[in-house]
Amino acid sequence: MSACPLCAADGGEVLWRDDRLRVIAIADVDHPAFLRVVWQAHVAEMTDLDVADREHVMAAVWATESALRDCVRPDKVNLASFGNVVPHLHWHVIARWRDDPHFPNAVWGPRMRESARPPLPGLARDMRLRLAELLGPGDR
Ligand SMILES: [Zn+2]
Repeated sequence: MSACPLCAADGGEVLWRDDRLRVIAIADVDHPAFLRVVWQAHVAEMTDLDVADREHVMAAVWATESALRDCVRPDKVNLASFGNVVPHLHWHVIARWRDDPHFPNAVWGPRMRESARPPLPGLARDMRLRLAELLGPGDR
C-alpha cells in the first residue's frame, strides 16, 4: 500500500482516463464541481515530464475547464497546481460562483458566507460525455 493517496486510489470519481492521466470529480460539499487532472505516475513537478507529456497534461486541463464551462456555466474557473500536501502531480480545476462559500477567496481561503451551492447530480454524466468529445474516448 502506497503512502501516496493518489497512487493508492483514484482520489475521486473518474470522469476520463488514459494510460497517462485521469480526470476526477471530488466530493466537496461546498464546491459541487471540483475536479482534478491527476498524472497516473508518481512525479512531483511538471518539469519531471517530457515536453509531450506536459502538453498532454495541459490539453487535459484545458479540456476539463472547457467542459466545465459548457456543463455548469460557472461565474469563474479556478486552476491551481500546488502539490505541497500530496507531491503527486495534479491540477485543480474548480468551478466557482459569486455566491459560493469562499468566493472571491480561493476554496482553501477564508470562508465568506454560509450559503452552500446546490449539488449538481448530472455533473459526472455530462462531463464524461463532453470530455470524450474533447479528448477522445480514453480508456474505460
Ligand atoms: Zn503518488
